[in-house]
Amino acid sequence: MIDALRLTAEEAKKLLDAREISGAELFAAYAERDDDLHAFLYRCDDPGGDGIPIALKDVIGTKGVPTTAGSKILESYLPVYDATVAANCKRHGLRLLGKTNTDEFAMGSSTENSAFGPSRNPWDPARVPGGSGGGSAAAVSGGLAPWALGSDTGGSIKQPSALCGNVGLRPTYGTVSRFGVVAFASSLDQVGPVAKNVRDCAYLYSIIAGRDANDTTTVEVPEVELPTAQDLKGMRIGVPTEMNEADGIEPGVSAAVRKAIELAESLGAEVGECSLPRSVDYGVACYYLVAPAEASSNLARYDGARYGLRSDGDDFREMVMATRHDGLGDEPKRRIMIGTYALSSGYYDAYYGKAQRVRTMIRREHAEVFEKFDLIVSPTSPTVAFAIGEKAGNPLAMYLNDLLTIPSCMAGLPGLNIPCGLSEGLPVGLQLIGPQFAENTLFRAGHALEQALGFDVVPERLR
Ligand code: GLN
Repeated sequence: MIDALRLTAEEAKKLLDAREISGAELFAAYAERDDDLHAFLYRCDDPGGDGIPIALKDVIGTKGVPTTAGSKILESYLPVYDATVAANCKRHGLRLLGKTNTDEFAMGSSTENSAFGPSRNPWDPARVPGGSGGGSAAAVSGGLAPWALGSDTGGSIKQPSALCGNVGLRPTYGTVSRFGVVAFASSLDQVGPVAKNVRDCAYLYSIIAGRDANDTTTVEVPEVELPTAQDLKGMRIGVPTEMNEADGIEPGVSAAVRKAIELAESLGAEVGECSLPRSVDYGVACYYLVAPAEASSNLARYDGARYGLRSDGDDFREMVMATRHDGLGDEPKRRIMIGTYALSSGYYDAYYGKAQRVRTMIRREHAEVFEKFDLIVSPTSPTVAFAIGEKAGNPLAMYLNDLLTIPSCMAGLPGLNIPCGLSEGLPVGLQLIGPQFAENTLFRAGHALEQALGFDVVPERLR
């Protein structure tokens, strides 16, 4: 029997290669499970093929398959081409299970901003799975998909992975094509894998990474090495004080992370303190100028004339206003207003220009730390999964949940979440951040730690 909750993609591939299971059986093992978590916005019929099934976040354009980005404005939109990452999955024979839930236009940290209702955390259905890619994370830990793709602008792969007990990678900016992916903030958006373990994560990254002529920000990437090392000998690991002692980090989260750091030391890593004071102090504020500014420009295309929803209006202007009024939810509207304000003449230098300079400072501060360390560690999220509704009415509390994931995103750096323990019966995520293009280092360290930690990725209540 196929154990959808435990089977890794690597194990699935072995079974498929040995013809011990058929592709159709494997697909059915996931497709037939009840989605009481609302992980999916759309589930596909078996497209056939001989590869491993996969779920894609609903911001990833899929030819002829609904792609809503969690928004009413795209409810009826059917892309006429595949995003490069979706095409790469197809080329590898991966079979599309469906499209996973997301906060509207990937704006959020809980999936509660999805126009189609929130997803639930497989560890405790009364809690959020994180966001924006909560659907992908819930699907992987809930046994609805062996692995998935998410997208990460300020933490949307790492944070849901942390809250659902998955391994998730936000790749270095420029390693994975954004072509055909619904744009939120183009200088930050990156697609990346969500998986049950580090090796699967690395393997999926190898399928999607690389230069794409359709996205001029992409580059050739170093060959991906599937990690095997069991130790961390010679690895220099920095522990940024501000990111490990920030206000608001729950004691249970701190304790699990501290234990993982001690374990890293016992595996041979050289652990030392370091400091990223300005990145932590200004990261969130800087992000909430840069990301909305880019979003306000990117979302201008949803005007009723080109995509999806069109509401009635007496003239073109009225039609555009009615469409955007009806089709966009509160969070995208809030960001469009913040972004438009930050970019408006007279305010541009004070807000957007200043934020860009702060971003450069954040990048430099990280670069300095990586002169001494191969990677740095911190909690991924200051808290474990919170209750549905707990922060939904308070945008600032929601934004602060990204305190620890945002700085490295602003710096364009790769980050890997691995589960490192439980607090109050809920997963705690450890964030490993490296310099640009250091994905192999993250995989190596993540794999060694994962082996030593022995975290059981299957939610306790489903075992
Ligand atoms: N939670 C952050 C936001 O709301 C990050 C989202 C993301 O990475 N897409 O913008």
